[in-house]
Amino acid sequence: MTVLTSVSGFPRIGGDRELKKTIEAYWKGNATLADVVAMGHELRMRHWMLQKDMGIDLIPSNDFSYYDQMLDTAMLLNVIPQRYRDLGFNNPEETMFAMARGYQGEHGDVTALPMKKWFTTNYHYLVPEYEQGTSIQLNGTAPFDAFVEAQEAGIHTKPVLIGPYTFLKFLRGADAEEITVTDALEEQISTAYEQILRRFAELGATWIQIDEPALAMDKSDADIALFRRLHACILAAREGDVKVLLNTYFGHIADVYATVCELGFDGIGLDMCEGKEQNLVAVQQHGVPQDTTLFAGVVNGRNIWRNDFAQSLGVIDALLTKTDHVAVSTASSLLHVPFSTASETQLGDDVLRHFAFAVEKLGELRALADLAQADEDARRTSAILADNQALFDGSRVSADEAVKQRIAALGDDDYVRHPARNQRRTLQHEALNLPLLPTTTIGSFPQTAQVRAERAKLRKGTITQDEYDEFIRTCIDDAIIRQEELGLDVLVHGEFERNDMVEYFGQNLNGFLFTKNAWVQSYGTRCVKPPIVWSDVSRARPITVQWSSYAQSKTDKPMKGMLTGPVTILNWSWPREDISKQEQTQQLALAIRDEVLDLEAAGITVIQIDEAALREKLPLRRDDWHSEYLDWAVPAFRLVHSAVKPTTQIHTHMCYSEFNDIIRDIDAMDADVISFEASRGDLVVLDAIQESAFETEAGPGVYDIHSPRIPSVEEIEDRITQILDKMDAQQVWINPDCGLKTRGEHETWASLANLVEAARHTRAML
Ligand code: GLN
Ligand code: ZN
Repeated sequence: MTVLTSVSGFPRIGGDRELKKTIEAYWKGNATLADVVAMGHELRMRHWMLQKDMGIDLIPSNDFSYYDQMLDTAMLLNVIPQRYRDLGFNNPEETMFAMARGYQGEHGDVTALPMKKWFTTNYHYLVPEYEQGTSIQLNGTAPFDAFVEAQEAGIHTKPVLIGPYTFLKFLRGADAEEITVTDALEEQISTAYEQILRRFAELGATWIQIDEPALAMDKSDADIALFRRLHACILAAREGDVKVLLNTYFGHIADVYATVCELGFDGIGLDMCEGKEQNLVAVQQHGVPQDTTLFAGVVNGRNIWRNDFAQSLGVIDALLTKTDHVAVSTASSLLHVPFSTASETQLGDDVLRHFAFAVEKLGELRALADLAQADEDARRTSAILADNQALFDGSRVSADEAVKQRIAALGDDDYVRHPARNQRRTLQHEALNLPLLPTTTIGSFPQTAQVRAERAKLRKGTITQDEYDEFIRTCIDDAIIRQEELGLDVLVHGEFERNDMVEYFGQNLNGFLFTKNAWVQSYGTRCVKPPIVWSDVSRARPITVQWSSYAQSKTDKPMKGMLTGPVTILNWSWPREDISKQEQTQQLALAIRDEVLDLEAAGITVIQIDEAALREKLPLRRDDWHSEYLDWAVPAFRLVHSAVKPTTQIHTHMCYSEFNDIIRDIDAMDADVISFEASRGDLVVLDAIQESAFETEAGPGVYDIHSPRIPSVEEIEDRITQILDKMDAQQVWINPDCGLKTRGEHETWASLANLVEAARHTRAML
């Protein structure tokens, strides 16, 4: 019995973000496309060699991308809207970048394809657009070229493809609508995948990995039938030594496992981290087809913690009672974890030994495969296993008793704000004395090069804290003057002092650790560096009070205090695994609650608690939405603000508009006001607000801040009119979509001037 090791996908941005740097240099005109291509080659070779040296048997290829693997798949399948073809670039990379980022220049003027979050990760994929007349067919040779490139270097890879079912589920029409899969479309896509398989057979490929993560989502009978037909075609096209691995991740596929078994795949990849219990039960129940290899995804592709070998071996052993053919694999692509702990020596060995990033996870795969094949004696005497066990024996950190007691002392009433919202509303309106359709912004103003430069100087010690603070004060002063001049009603201080809405808070909380170089791709060349929740969390010191009260002292208008909510802080950090997410969120909620009360005591009457990432981690299956998530995420938010005075107005903000299906839960957060994204034409959420008798006052964003365009007064007025068609004017706020930190100065103030003007016009007509 040989237990193979397999990696689903490897990070491609480079240990030092080399790919990001080269591509961004190319965009700025400081590097050529040839430089980008050369860097791609170098990184692929480096990562393949690394995996080979670490003893990985099935090394992925075609997991590389300059921007996004979904976009690459769209290009490969010829799903390229005409407006991008019309730009007339003579190389596919430039067309691809135009689809990814939009293009403005001598070739034309087009906006980018929309982006969406990839399942419950913070990775964004480009949404492929299927327009009238698109004909799906094989276009380009990228996956084959990569296979050959590796082969020439003596590395036999396992090509990875996004499967046709997942592709079709995520494919959208020209107006972002879901599309009906016609027979012709199905036929075209099946043919393309058959050709891909045949071509790989000719090239001598053995294992081919087809990723179908969409199987971990809810499915209708029609979906399952579609999946079945698509894959029956692909499997029938097997030639030569080609074996097909159906790979799934981000959850279980227990509901289709029997179907998957019937189809006759050579390999089935199961997520044994996120979908462990259900997947295990399915395998126990239905067994494993005779010649099928089960790829057990026991090494987590979405955490930074060391694998618990005893636990993983338990899973592998359980599977081995059902089949002799087991491979150990990463549960998902390693794209979602940082490169290596090697660059984090500042954290010290005692901390680092608990972490495994992508490179370290390769070692874990190898160790697990070896241990899986070892007999009992060998396991008993294994130093590797003993060392690993030592990490999990006893507790890694001691509990913070004060935090524990605070949580234990919480009663139901701590989650309820008094009086009820409609009574508070009257009191707040009297106290704040705002006009109808009050105007405000989401919090941040442009983080100019100067702001970033001053922060860098402080970090390097070339300016003092006092000098830096003085600089921030001038930024705030200036932002206040401008907002007053424009006539905005509720002001913000601009968040100039913050590098990031999570890290800034983490730095002032006990229990967090920070890395130097643990970047993870978020979209395109953009990476994020989430902090790590290491131990129990509490507030170390007041976080925002100083700047908020300074700002309030400079104006007679209400100055909004600006906080990041507990769910978002956790969702954009690396959470612990030794205590539940619910408990971590509760701890964070108490810390932010302290801040809310301090702000209130300092005279701040409007406080916004951002929950930008609340929807991101909504479970994939509807049945789990409440029990696994909303039932504690919503109360955590309520805990943050339940103790404020009736006259203190609590705002929240969310970065997306797709919350019509959880609209009641959003209302149940019991904020007084919510602002959210609504400028992309997608106004279904307004129907939902109307139909659900939504009580929270709401500011659906009236213009898109992701674009440098300046919206005209008329345009914004139109948008407000649309909003007023669905909502009571008493309930409506006027604001942009999101924070303005990524925008330039000029467009920001010009756009806001038009926003205020549009609100005034509309008010005058009511
Ligand atoms: N208050 C934050 C800002 O304005 C909100 C950012 C966000 O929603 N992502 O930048
Ligand atoms: Zn936002």
